[in-house]
Amino acid sequence: MAVRPRSAVREGALKKEWRYLILDGYVDEPASLGVPPYISPQVRSLAGGLVNGGADPGEVGYLTVDQWRGIRGRGDWNVDPKLEFIIAIKGCVVPGKYLRGTPISSREIAELTASVKDASIVLWGSGSYMDGIEGDPGVLGENIASEGNLSSRDRTMEEWGTNLRSGAFIIQLHPDFPTPLIAEIETSRGCPRYMSGGCSFCIEPTKGPVQFREPQDIASEVAELADRGLENIRIGGQSDLVSYMTKEAGISETPTPDPRALTEMMTGCRKALHSGPGLISALEAGRRLGIDTGIVHTDNANPAVIADHPDEAMEALGAIAMNCTPGSVLALGLESADPAVKEANNLNSDPGQTMEAIRAINAVGRHIGGNGMPQLLPGLNFLGGLKGQYEGSFEHDLALLERVRTEGLLLRRINIRAAMYPRPGGAAAPSFPDGRAERAFRSFKEGVRGSFDSHLLSQVIPEHTLLKGVYLETTLGRSVYGRQIGSYPVLVRMDHPGPTGTFADVHITGISGRSVSGFGSPFMVNRVPFSHLLAIPGIGRKRAASVFRKRPIDMEYLGRELGIDRRVLADIRTER
Ligand code: SF4
Repeated sequence: MAVRPRSAVREGALKKEWRYLILDGYVDEPASLGVPPYISPQVRSLAGGLVNGGADPGEVGYLTVDQWRGIRGRGDWNVDPKLEFIIAIKGCVVPGKYLRGTPISSREIAELTASVKDASIVLWGSGSYMDGIEGDPGVLGENIASEGNLSSRDRTMEEWGTNLRSGAFIIQLHPDFPTPLIAEIETSRGCPRYMSGGCSFCIEPTKGPVQFREPQDIASEVAELADRGLENIRIGGQSDLVSYMTKEAGISETPTPDPRALTEMMTGCRKALHSGPGLISALEAGRRLGIDTGIVHTDNANPAVIADHPDEAMEALGAIAMNCTPGSVLALGLESADPAVKEANNLNSDPGQTMEAIRAINAVGRHIGGNGMPQLLPGLNFLGGLKGQYEGSFEHDLALLERVRTEGLLLRRINIRAAMYPRPGGAAAPSFPDGRAERAFRSFKEGVRGSFDSHLLSQVIPEHTLLKGVYLETTLGRSVYGRQIGSYPVLVRMDHPGPTGTFADVHITGISGRSVSGFGSPFMVNRVPFSHLLAIPGIGRKRAASVFRKRPIDMEYLGRELGIDRRVLADIRTER
């Protein structure tokens, strides 16, 4: 797709009653996502900390950085003297390309600081090589609101849950509330591999021993969010969902899963979300559970844990598949299939373990759910610029993908990014030994995008799939673009206009790279404008003109006279 569609941002405005403004510059860490339509736990925790430190919820404001850009662009960035603190959150460790938001840049932080005189600017940075205050955002909020103290520390287990619950109110200020907003839910912190230092590029092991939130603690936070009108969650705040609450944390780097605890947590979250008032009124308004609302998705699993404990892992994966809504993903961090790179970077799994994990997730999750997507699929993450990676390394990666293709396994997505290592006095950067390695990485990436992505997507979403619950986000030319709500949704182009901010079901007729296209269903062939008729596959301008002239037409005319595929006809209606 030549031009990348971008969603419009709902405008924001400064409110006079705000004493504290959370400026969300977005978080995208290996174990936490907070780029719209996601709201991060860090933001909610900070809001809760402010309230627990004595602020009234009405005094706590929230703007995304995209809203701030809009306000500044309109010349309305006039900070009221009542605003005492602006707390900017910044945490995109390995920034990707996002459809709904652009993370705050260092230049913008400098501009922000220069533009404000009366308020204190506090920058909270996630990750050890971010500028700004570290420690827990909830504790920072408490310190600011109680004593005006701009410092933080690690939280206690109690502070973790309490601040998240108290900060649930902030979701209502998010521009994507109530839909397509998704709250990222944290289940644990740290990585079981901290004992060996973990993977060379990752910040998670710096957080120390793994801490798990109890199932009831997580479910009660989801209940609080649901009470405030939240409709969708992603249980993505962990290094590995499968080993949730394992008793072997700190003992083994590939601990035995505890399927009972995982089932309790997943069931509790689903039930809490699905009993919320926001969801109930969405259902009353005709939206469909697990399709347009009530999404429960997941992220992050360690392939080595799945491969090393096949029985417990299958039980755990079964619990995940049963409690999530269709279209969910478990992203597997292989990073590199080159054994020498695995060694040099202390990576967590090898290609054999990764294949085992891909097979196991396919076994429990590849059946099609109510929204047209497989219930639960693996994703696969690769990194370039790892230590010791040279041009030959990427051949190992391609060989693994070839195995996936040959075995007919489904992969929801292949994520390829550059590793970022901190550099003294400079911006974080990948560690390519030379230009050849860097070029090989780029050509690996292009090769995957060129040959694997379309193939994999055609297996996951074959032509004539009816993808339900596509949230239409933006119009470009005569087409409208949207995505289903949830984990790593596929970009869907509808080949005729449609109202943004609404849900549509799309009959898929084409696949291009990492996106799909089609026409809206039901397609009212006797009512739509002429130009919409061109979205019927194989019709062409001439036959569309004859359909237009002859309207009203019937199915027989479309099928017999025009030879339209009967699978296409299944989503066409002839009512006038
Ligand atoms: S397995 Fe590696 S990448 Fe994943 S959280 Fe642990 S250290 Fe980070």
